[in-house]
Amino acid sequence: MASAHATSPLIQCTNFHTNKPLWMSSPSYTHLLTHPSLFPLLQTCKSMRELHQIHAQILTSGFSHNPYALSSILEFTAISPSGSLDYALQIFNSIDSPTVFYWNTMIRAFSTAHSPLNSIEFFIRMMEQGVVPNKFTFPFVIKSFSFLLALLLGKAIHGLALKMGVDSDAYVNSSLIRFYSNCGSIDDALLVFDRRSKRNAVCWSAMIAGYAQANLFKEALLLFNEFQMERLEPNEAILVSVLSACAHLGALEQGRWVHVCIERNKVLLSVNLGTSLINMYSRCGYIDGAVIVFDQMPQRNVLTWTSLIMGLAVNGLCNRALVLFEEMLDVGLRPDSITFIGVLTACSHGGLVNEAQHQFDRMMREFRIVPKIEHYGCMVDVLGRAGFLQEANDLIENMPIEPDTILWGALLNACIVHKNVVLGEKVGRYLIDLDSQNDANYILLANIYAYVRRWGDALEVRKLMKKRGVRKCPGCSVIEVNGVIHEFFMSDKSDHRALELKPMLDEMVQRIRAAGYVPNTSQVLLDIDEEEKEQALCYHSEKLAIAYGLIHVDPKVPIRVVKNLRACVDCHTATKLISMVFGRQIIVRDRLRFHHFKGGECSCMEYW
Ligand code: ZN
Ligand code: ZN
Repeated sequence: MASAHATSPLIQCTNFHTNKPLWMSSPSYTHLLTHPSLFPLLQTCKSMRELHQIHAQILTSGFSHNPYALSSILEFTAISPSGSLDYALQIFNSIDSPTVFYWNTMIRAFSTAHSPLNSIEFFIRMMEQGVVPNKFTFPFVIKSFSFLLALLLGKAIHGLALKMGVDSDAYVNSSLIRFYSNCGSIDDALLVFDRRSKRNAVCWSAMIAGYAQANLFKEALLLFNEFQMERLEPNEAILVSVLSACAHLGALEQGRWVHVCIERNKVLLSVNLGTSLINMYSRCGYIDGAVIVFDQMPQRNVLTWTSLIMGLAVNGLCNRALVLFEEMLDVGLRPDSITFIGVLTACSHGGLVNEAQHQFDRMMREFRIVPKIEHYGCMVDVLGRAGFLQEANDLIENMPIEPDTILWGALLNACIVHKNVVLGEKVGRYLIDLDSQNDANYILLANIYAYVRRWGDALEVRKLMKKRGVRKCPGCSVIEVNGVIHEFFMSDKSDHRALELKPMLDEMVQRIRAAGYVPNTSQVLLDIDEEEKEQALCYHSEKLAIAYGLIHVDPKVPIRVVKNLRACVDCHTATKLISMVFGRQIIVRDRLRFHHFKGGECSCMEYW
């Protein structure tokens, strides 16, 4: 970068990869640089007020057509956070024939200000006026198409970039990768990524984030492993994406590795990065790790506190979550609506009905936060867990916003746990019509019938589900061993791993049977038809993952399993006994919460 750049914060802050216009070497530019008062002023300008003064001075000293002065003013007003796009527009309109540099500044400004249509309009006008776009134009035009999720138009711009020969530029590439992943076209993103032989951290970052965004977490981690082999230094964006992938998968070992990587590379533990670490440790069920990071962070914001409160809550450490919330208030931070979801979740997991009511009122009165559907969801959960089913039902029917299916689902869940068939049937019947394509509702309703041995009704629900073409979402459990993710599905027994696991599965069942396990086949009927019920239970994905863990995970370390669905009653009972007879700590994260199994007990206290 030229030394003039290095000394000018004005240009430096806006100079997105050395977009250096030719006039920088012109006499008028050097003249201005040596101007005793204007140059230093432009250099340090911080507000629109100051800029107005400088602009006035420039006009009176005859520099109004000086390209350096013009472009500096345009950049400040268009792009600086304290600038003004309206003012930039006036300046732009006063320029006779704007060069590509001026056009790029405006296209970028609108794209950054989330005005994609204006940005695209400027691009079209520029093309109409015969100004040839360059590699600095494309990233922001593509970003604008990305906002609009305009896949076809964006593809046309991609074609144009190829034609102009700027597609080899790393920034053009990374914006294309981001564009295709945003539009849900991950294969196209991968094509762009793969076509490049030399990739910089920005391209890697875009592709890893693309995978994470498309819920392809395993692929994100595999790509991160490849990235590390290139010996490039990871940037914060990559680390945040990878941590989010680890959090989703419950991949604690990889997540820890990222933490080591952060420490080894002496990456500054920013609020964003620290909060991602807290989130990763909490979602992997290793709450002590989250607390350590929290304590080490030099700066924390509301999101940081909220992440730890939520982490403590879902891991069953309800009182600690509530104490932390009070500490957060003591340091003068103002909770937001998400913080209160954490607080209410803590109350729910701890069965604290009065405390929940108190916090709910406090949220509205003291902090003037209007409750959203999620807050009502927590309240239904609190009431349902404590067995106040009628109160939960009344709350749903009388709340000021339209209840959603999740809320009714929470009530149905509570009806099952408390075996309230009358209300459960009513809610269940209502739900399968309201949300007729959601398999979970049919299964919950059928389970209610199964509990009271109304097999005919259970069968009828199953038939209805089939008739409406609703397929049961296959159960999937994930376990990480030595940094490798293993996925288990409800097995067809030809899977070679199921054969490998058979002896361990047999041993598991034998030993827990001796400890009093009776298979609970009441929930099997919806899972599969042809298999023998008990056999089928044995091949539930979490049992396969736990068996794999018993063989491959160091006995001193807990076995951690992440499941995509709600844990079934049989697996829950079996896992409690396995934790006892094998003397192992087993941590299962299901769709909603954690189950920490130890010595035959579970932290969820039988409510999930
Ligand atoms: Zn199960
Ligand atoms: Zn549990």
